Amino acid sequence: MKVRAPIFYFHRVASDNLEAAVPAEVFADHLAHWRELGVQSVSLEQIARHLNGGGLLLPPRAINISFDDCYADLLDRALPLLDEYGFRASFFAVAGHLGGRSYWSQGAARELRLMNADHLRQLAAQGHEIGSHSFHHRSLTWLPLDELWAELADSRQVLEQVLGRPVVALAYPFGDVAPWVAEAAEAAGYLTARGLRRGNLHCRHSLFDLSVINSMRLRDRVSQGKMAHYLGRWYEWGARKEALGRRWQRRRKM
Ligand SMILES: [Zn+2]
Repeated sequence: MKVRAPIFYFHRVASDNLEAAVPAEVFADHLAHWRELGVQSVSLEQIARHLNGGGLLLPPRAINISFDDCYADLLDRALPLLDEYGFRASFFAVAGHLGGRSYWSQGAARELRLMNADHLRQLAAQGHEIGSHSFHHRSLTWLPLDELWAELADSRQVLEQVLGRPVVALAYPFGDVAPWVAEAAEAAGYLTARGLRRGNLHCRHSLFDLSVINSMRLRDRVSQGKMAHYLGRWYEWGARKEALGRRWQRRRKM
């Protein structure tokens, strides 16, 4: 089973250029286009359950809106816009630094405030997905196995205690993933994990390295026509590939 669901991945909504920030008016523009185009937001958990054959059908034009790091100012800048346009998003929190600062960043971005436990509970109560972005935001591929396990399992446990509900989605810090990291994530109880590969066609084999569309491409205003064309290419490409079916696969083998 395959599913076409572009994952649009963001860090911040702001006009200060820190951490690949997208200006609020541009973000609002994207949301307006998506609503106009009949796009519906889904969580990574929904994508994972769909791929696992749980019988859950995704809407025909599904997207996921992901925010990494959980910057506190998203509450003022992104949340009202998501509400206004009727979208839900996935927020990935660094469990060991709730209410802290993004110390892993460079320069002025190191001082950006992160959401605390109350903020995460508020988001979850409003229907947004909360996922783990590890415990300390270190590159998981470089860690000894016991520390890797702690980053995955402890962060999940802390967030589950904060929220009082299962946490099943993970976003790898810096998008760094290796086969043993993906296997450890699955063993730690996650249903899915998001990397930073480019793409939008997901299948069971990519459940622990879901691909994304980088927000760097979304920092400027685009017309609705261009957004429609852009989304259309993603959806249609997958549909064409499916329609071609065996013929396509045979050709690729030759
Ligand atoms: Zn991050």
